[in-house]
Amino acid sequence: MILKGRIFHFVDDGRKENPENSFEYFEMGGLVVSGKKIVDIGDFNKIIAKYSDHDVIDHKNNLIFPGFIDLHNHFPQVQVISSYGTQLLEWLNKYTFPEEAKFISEDYSKQQAKKFLKLLITNGTTTSVSFCSVHKESVNALFQEASKKNMCMIAGKVMMDRNAPKNLLDTPQSSYEDSQALISKWHKKNRNFYAITPRFAITSSPEQLKLAGKLVENNPSCYIQTHLSENRDEIEYTMSLYPNYRHYLDIYLQNGIVNNRSLLGHSIHLSGDEISIFEQSKAVAVHCPTSNLFLGSGLFPLKELNNSNVRLGISTDVGGGTSYSMLNNLDAAYKIQQFRNFSLNPKFSFYWATLGNAKSLGLENQIGSFKKGTFADIVVLDSLSNMVSKIRMETCESLDEELFVLQTLGGVQSIKSVYIAGNSFL
Ligand SMILES: [Zn+2]
Repeated sequence: MILKGRIFHFVDDGRKENPENSFEYFEMGGLVVSGKKIVDIGDFNKIIAKYSDHDVIDHKNNLIFPGFIDLHNHFPQVQVISSYGTQLLEWLNKYTFPEEAKFISEDYSKQQAKKFLKLLITNGTTTSVSFCSVHKESVNALFQEASKKNMCMIAGKVMMDRNAPKNLLDTPQSSYEDSQALISKWHKKNRNFYAITPRFAITSSPEQLKLAGKLVENNPSCYIQTHLSENRDEIEYTMSLYPNYRHYLDIYLQNGIVNNRSLLGHSIHLSGDEISIFEQSKAVAVHCPTSNLFLGSGLFPLKELNNSNVRLGISTDVGGGTSYSMLNNLDAAYKIQQFRNFSLNPKFSFYWATLGNAKSLGLENQIGSFKKGTFADIVVLDSLSNMVSKIRMETCESLDEELFVLQTLGGVQSIKSVYIAGNSFL
């Protein structure tokens, strides 16, 4: 098939001051999809001459863009999003842990996995990096549902053996064995990848973190996901539990879970030494904007990390985050940086949520752009989806302005169609 419309995607780093060579834009474009993959892209007239026997799906004046990539979220928190009145540690105990305990049930896990994927897709997200609960049932449910949709899913069983209710705790040995069994079952099957997932240092004993490092050593192609330096109380508590380490990141580093496949959620309050470790290890600092605002955690040091060549990701962190929409999270990221005297360019934002996140996963040959041979994961965006946008667009004169309108005034209603591996889901 050929998707017709205004086509836009990044071909290079969109964070540059003058990003004109970083993207391709076709005012009347054609995107050729064959089976699961992108096979060609160009001006519609040239494309239709070359592929005259193909069906054309006309998306008219809408923007055809690569599907969004969400680099950090929590699938068992579908029912936790929008929980009132707390900051991180109290929020976990009061809302999150009681809900996550329900995922011991296979049925409940399945029901919530279906809802979770529906919410992601409706918001234009076609690749997700997700924490599951401590139970293997939750991991099986999420990968099963993602496989049915041929969706790229990176996920793992949370490892946690202390500082949480008893019914949510594993042991160092059981977490090691369960994770290893899940890796054998799911890693690199369909479009799934396993992420070794110690929740964070507070809920893992030294023995468990050591075994997480052993899992990493034995399974070098797996990802690693955890949380780092989200809020001040958390950092203080963490260092009281691990007094012999230089800083928070050192705990992970010394236990062998920091490398170029590590996705460290939040990474807000960092020392200079921690930033150097990020640079050397090529670990990814994953920004969670709506979550940071909602839980009052802090203001992500984007300019400093970007200038330091730290690899960066952006995500929703649902359910600490308050929106499944990457557009809403880009909007929050912009507002956070306004407090830090840095105006986040819309090209940077849209690059970040697609090719930027793909590069942070090392998956840029599979997702994040319309490069030939990548999966046909596509979102169709409508910049006129509500009255405010529609009126504002009357005077919009450039693509940058339009992207900024989409990010600031748009959201779930901006998503008109979604394709995953060439199949239409919305
Ligand atoms: Zn998180």
